[in-house]
Amino acid sequence: MNLYDLTRDELKALLVNWGFSPFHTTRLWSYLYLDLVTEISAESMPEIPPKVRARFAAEASLGVLPTAQETDSSDGFTRKYLLRLNDDEKIETVLMRYTGRVTACISSQVGCAMGCVFCATGQMGYTRHLTAGEIVAQAVHVARVLRALSREAKASAGVSPVRLRNIVLMGMGEPLHNYDAVMRAIDIIHDGNGLALAADRITLSTVGVVPGILRLAAEQRPQHLAVSLHAATQPERAALVPAARKWPLDELMAACRTYSKTTGRRIFYEWTLIEGKNDTPEQARAVGALLQGLPAQVNLIPLNPTSGYDGVPTRTEAARTFQKILSEEFAVPSTMRQRRGIDIAAGCGQLAVADRTG
Ligand code: SF4
Repeated sequence: MNLYDLTRDELKALLVNWGFSPFHTTRLWSYLYLDLVTEISAESMPEIPPKVRARFAAEASLGVLPTAQETDSSDGFTRKYLLRLNDDEKIETVLMRYTGRVTACISSQVGCAMGCVFCATGQMGYTRHLTAGEIVAQAVHVARVLRALSREAKASAGVSPVRLRNIVLMGMGEPLHNYDAVMRAIDIIHDGNGLALAADRITLSTVGVVPGILRLAAEQRPQHLAVSLHAATQPERAALVPAARKWPLDELMAACRTYSKTTGRRIFYEWTLIEGKNDTPEQARAVGALLQGLPAQVNLIPLNPTSGYDGVPTRTEAARTFQKILSEEFAVPSTMRQRRGIDIAAGCGQLAVADRTG
């Protein structure tokens, strides 16, 4: 049993089931998610009675994920971790610190079944879903890193500690393909007595899994939703995102409209800009027309080159023109994401692919 798999209510029920007082729940939870302990022991959990501790030590574990590889970008803003799972598979977790935001980008699967042609994880194929505990463990890992960095910084410059404030599920995998585990993990990460990440500080990114989007709407999930669009016509989209053959563009947009109508929230539409493929003025007009009038924001991201795809990132001038058309002709707001961390292969899956291929 991995303790990171349990919600606080389940931890409480477990204590009761084992014949212990439920009052240990609060202290145990704070050892896990505020003290960020790495083991079940007398040293790390001194306020838990020995009998209770012994039962947990015998029947449960803390699914701490050891670091197999760690890489810093040259600009110091991005730190990428290759974390080892119990079965020796590896996943990527990224800490990003720029524009005043501290964000963890975490994975939801080992590999991915969606096969987006420009994505290193897609090129790797699907291996398995992550458990909720493995998703939570990544957030805990980043929280530990931030605590250590804060201590170092405080010792040298007297600055106050930095806590994990934002999480994006944009690492390896398609979160809505692993819906139940992802939502369980979000509930644990959101718990106000632990990591306490606000719901609107968590962003789920999907390639367009229509049943998952509709389920999010029906369940009124309060997280942000980002939809990877990349093309504004069905044939062009299907060429870049094979999942579009299963969930065509018109079905996807109908689901997005239902989501926005039901939840009242805007959707972030992700657009990876690839030179000559989807960065032309015609494409900008097509996406502008598609999203005009919807509660939408387009996030433009110049392509992160991968060895398995021969496309190249858009040129700055083309990207600017694209953005200008969206704003001036269609009043669709957009942002241009910077390609930080490029020197450490910060695009999802690139480090894991390199590790697999040696
Ligand atoms: S971009 Fe996302 S959904 Fe597409 S293959 Fe990569 S990880 Fe999967």
